Amino acid sequence: MRIKHNSSMASKDGSTLETFHIHFENSYSRLPEKFYARVAPTPAPSPQLIKLNLQLAKELGLDSDGLATPEGIEVLAGSRVATGSEPLAMAYAGHQFGYFVRQLGDGRANLLGEVIGRDGVRYDIQLKGSGRTPFSRNGDGRATLAAVMREYIVSEAMSVLGVPTTRALAVVATGQPVFREAALPGAVLTRVATSHLRVGTFQYFLAKGDVEGIRTLAEYAIARHYPEAAFAPRRYRALLDGVIARQAKLVAQWMLLGFIHGVMNTDNTSISGETIDYGPCAFMEAYDPKTVFSSIDHQGRYSYSNQPHALHWNLTRLAESLLPLLVEEEGSDEAGLASAHAALEQFGVQFEAARDAGMREKLGLTAEYVGDTELAADLLNRMAENRADYTLTFRRLCDAAADVNGARGVRVLFAEPAAFDAWEVLWRQRLMKEQISPEERAARMRRVNPVFIPRNHLVEAALQAATEQQDFQPFEALLDALAHPYNDSPGMDRYSTPARPEEYVHQTFCGT
Ligand code: AMP
Ligand code: MG
Repeated sequence: MRIKHNSSMASKDGSTLETFHIHFENSYSRLPEKFYARVAPTPAPSPQLIKLNLQLAKELGLDSDGLATPEGIEVLAGSRVATGSEPLAMAYAGHQFGYFVRQLGDGRANLLGEVIGRDGVRYDIQLKGSGRTPFSRNGDGRATLAAVMREYIVSEAMSVLGVPTTRALAVVATGQPVFREAALPGAVLTRVATSHLRVGTFQYFLAKGDVEGIRTLAEYAIARHYPEAAFAPRRYRALLDGVIARQAKLVAQWMLLGFIHGVMNTDNTSISGETIDYGPCAFMEAYDPKTVFSSIDHQGRYSYSNQPHALHWNLTRLAESLLPLLVEEEGSDEAGLASAHAALEQFGVQFEAARDAGMREKLGLTAEYVGDTELAADLLNRMAENRADYTLTFRRLCDAAADVNGARGVRVLFAEPAAFDAWEVLWRQRLMKEQISPEERAARMRRVNPVFIPRNHLVEAALQAATEQQDFQPFEALLDALAHPYNDSPGMDRYSTPARPEEYVHQTFCGT
């Protein structure tokens, strides 16, 4: 699917009027009007292209040369509506920190349309930070350059790490300040997702008592994300099962990487099973399951270790929203409720299975033995007690697997190195149960234990250089390191080591 950069057409006054075409194949826009508000993005005064994701453009079959022209940049800034685009703001509701809001919706985003990627998959192309919509409430509809760059860095890092996620196609500075704690440069992110359906989208129709809306949405979600459910004897139960399975696996992947989402509201829990909404997210450094980064999360609702519980809670809200359809499907209230409960019960089982399988890989265990889960938990406890860096502990454990002397690099990460030594003995005993060479084991471990993750102080430094000095070099350099998260290369220590105390960033702000 190409973007055609059409030749100029003369307008009445003799000036040229460029049109810009993207081969959109819009489906959301065909849904009933109650699903969205048709609204075009608000033009930006002087758009400046900060970043274009050439690789992603290629995967989407978009013409990156065209996107980098002044007309293409205007499209990415929301200043020009490409032909084929049917811009709209999606309606949704959501629980925010446990409190239900009947109407949230895209208050600062426009879905431009959908394209079919080279992989045959349908993708939403959305602008975020592109001005007010009927869902803006008191918001300005805008986003800061720093927040947009943060989402670009972290979502692209997650993608390379193999985590299902929305992607970032472009960052365009608007040339207009946005007013937060101070006047800050504004920007628009072009976000790509297999869809922007959320748990909150279902809640929106439940809150209105609109069962036909729920059904239409469920059918749309099935067609787009769970086509196999269409053939299941109980299609809506199959949809619920599908979302639960993908989300259980997703949160396990986050946990295995030390990732903290930070704002797991139901409007930020996607139906496709992708990570969405990179606000106050961060990767943990010193391992502590109670870690919270978000400046507004006073109760620790979305702390590292609470993430599976928060997600189960959100999925319960999804099951509730689907309940009218499950009741119909089962023929009675009791049976419908039992179906929802049975689906939700699978969450814990699937999360633990994904987590345990992932942990075995991180520890270099190829087979499954009784006691593996406890072995991993024991290491994590010792890491927590000794403030060991999460990412480096596992990365250096690869060296320890290759060679006994490699363990030196791991033990120094522990406040009390003997705490690691005691665990190492148990680990080596367990490794002896498997016939695999140390080199092979280390190589496998290095494919799942990254050396480079977007450490918060590096992210903040890159954003600061960009917003305060218009220096985008640190941003580009960080992106380069994160593009190869498993390849340790010399001279890159700055990107692999934890923040020094004076560099440590304790909080990430919703200051979006
Ligand atoms: P978020 O915290 O980004 O998930 O956003 C929650 C809700 O607030 C969504 O409905 C957003 O569209 C809306 N929102 C967030 N920031 C703004 C803003 N600056 N202007 C308008 N709406 C916003
Ligand atoms: Mg959101």
